[in-house]
Amino acid sequence: MNDRIHPLAAAAVSSDVRPDNLSRLQPAARLRITEIFLSLQGEAADAGWPTVFLRLTGCPLRCRYCDTAYAFTGGEVQSVDAVLGSVAGYGVRHVCVTGGEPLAQPACRVLLERLCDAGHAVSLETSGAFDVSGVDARVRRVVDLKTPGSGEVERNRWDNLGVLTAHDRVKFVICNREDYEWARTRVREHRIEERCEVLFSPSWEQLDAAQLAEWIIEDRLPVRFQVQLHKVLWGDVPGR
Ligand code: SF4
Repeated sequence: MNDRIHPLAAAAVSSDVRPDNLSRLQPAARLRITEIFLSLQGEAADAGWPTVFLRLTGCPLRCRYCDTAYAFTGGEVQSVDAVLGSVAGYGVRHVCVTGGEPLAQPACRVLLERLCDAGHAVSLETSGAFDVSGVDARVRRVVDLKTPGSGEVERNRWDNLGVLTAHDRVKFVICNREDYEWARTRVREHRIEERCEVLFSPSWEQLDAAQLAEWIIEDRLPVRFQVQLHKVLWGDVPGR
């Protein structure tokens, strides 16, 4: 899989990303950004809030259902200060840092800290393939656990479960019945719901949402069903 690792991801594992180095990185922190836009948060605990989305460029994974492949390459390099200025211009409290895989860029951690310092309610959407420890504690970490149907199940970093708190979320995108049973086993095995809320989403146009809801009810599974509100409202379009 090394041939698929984005150069930004390789840099992310350097010692520079340790929290005690953040202030040193801060003055020069720059990020590659695919898009910044205002929409409604469509998922997780903050669903429904007007939210500024910061989509960072690059991802070392290739999930079969990925709806943001346009963020794998390209983008524009911007300073953290410039990004903060753009966010402030929208005048809303909620900010979601997403991708791509945001943590593939070391400066993402600096950005998260600075957004919190500016008074924003910040969430981070991450694939679960990177270490989420050391992310500013004020940030809500929404961590995917990749199912077999994603094609990237081997990327799951199970150690991440041990650092999550009630403020965070674990998310499974379910493609089919096999995925559902796999996710159900993982939830029970790791008792994830005792650590934080667990979200089950149907893979868009791959699994009928009502079917997933029925399975959850039938099993009385301690997870929260969700659909991607933004796709219900606007369909699967970039910038929404
Ligand atoms: S982790 Fe997210 S951005 Fe990366 S390939 Fe998977 S769905 Fe796409």
